[in-house]
Amino acid sequence: MNSVIPPSLYDLLPAEMDALIAELGMPAYRSNQVLQALYREFPESVEEFRQLPAEGRAAISSRYRLSPAAEVRRVASADGNTTKLLLRMADGTPIETVLMQYPDPGEKHPRSTVCVSTQAGCAMGCVFCATGQMGFERNLSAGEIVSQVIHVARLLKQRGEHVTNVVFMGMGEPLANYAETVRAVRILTDGRAFGLGQRHITISTVGVIRAIDRLAAEGLQVGLAISLHSPIEELRQRLVPTAGPHSVQEIVSAAKRYFKATGRRVTFEYALIAGQNDSPEVARQLAGLLRGTPTHVNLIPVNPTAGGFGRPVRAAVLEFERILVGAGINCTTRVEKGSEISAACGQLRTDQANTIIPAEELSLAPVAPMHGRRQAKPSPSPSQTR
Ligand code: SF4
Repeated sequence: MNSVIPPSLYDLLPAEMDALIAELGMPAYRSNQVLQALYREFPESVEEFRQLPAEGRAAISSRYRLSPAAEVRRVASADGNTTKLLLRMADGTPIETVLMQYPDPGEKHPRSTVCVSTQAGCAMGCVFCATGQMGFERNLSAGEIVSQVIHVARLLKQRGEHVTNVVFMGMGEPLANYAETVRAVRILTDGRAFGLGQRHITISTVGVIRAIDRLAAEGLQVGLAISLHSPIEELRQRLVPTAGPHSVQEIVSAAKRYFKATGRRVTFEYALIAGQNDSPEVARQLAGLLRGTPTHVNLIPVNPTAGGFGRPVRAAVLEFERILVGAGINCTTRVEKGSEISAACGQLRTDQANTIIPAEELSLAPVAPMHGRRQAKPSPSPSQTR
């Protein structure tokens, strides 16, 4: 990040906020007031910290800025359930954030899942992924990750709704930006900060094994989704070129260790690509690989525009799922949310203007019930194929 740009208040853990307030010579209770404002009121400037005297606001502003995320464009899917936001960071870097909403039976408000980016671009180069084709620009800071959630929370608050889930499945490989990803999780789940339940967060990875083991030891209860895409070594390496050193067997072993350490069953994401990894024989090999592993498989028929790869016909998807379920593997086929606005799996990139509408022309569309679509377990596992 550009060194002349001050850090964001959203980079700070509550204990660090306490230290800052003390350092600035303010009484300790001011820290809770600032945290309340940041995470309950979602202000757009430090000037909105009404509880603080003018000199307190000035002291904070001299060291920190509020939020690095400014909305540039917004586009909503026709059913209003998916909204893609193009946000610009303080140094001008564009990134994308997606809001996915699911009617929640019995609940007044929909389930609202924010899919955050952890990097601008991505170095992993998955061949079916638009972000991967952009290349890597830079890591995002924890404040830049948290600010994406805050931005959406502010929009939802205007209509009496709130963020219920966060998935780290947007642009980038979260575990390749480990420290900032974990810091963002801690800020989002701290009761004095955003206060989201840890079990309402899912981190998605292509399978960075050392980082998975490190995450398992963090004492967190976040969900983990690993992008597998093939049980066959050589095919997986073709689809996820940077997965090189890790065999599929090592990845499954890491998933077992994660389950043992956290009690959380790992989800395996599987992008189904016509003619590549969607045959009944591959399904049987996948079932064999995962037998006895406490897991859930998320089948994701690959989205249009993803590197020229094709989506399998429906019969092939159903057959693939039938073989897994028949072998006792928990499995669902993911709802395709937002593909018409390039907000779905493998479609996030910031260097292409698709059907984007200027933000001021759109408010968040109301949530429509989903019809005629097979609904996978709604969350937390909806977005990115890695
Ligand atoms: S699928 Fe995920 S890890 Fe792979 S290139 Fe795209 S953003 Fe990166």
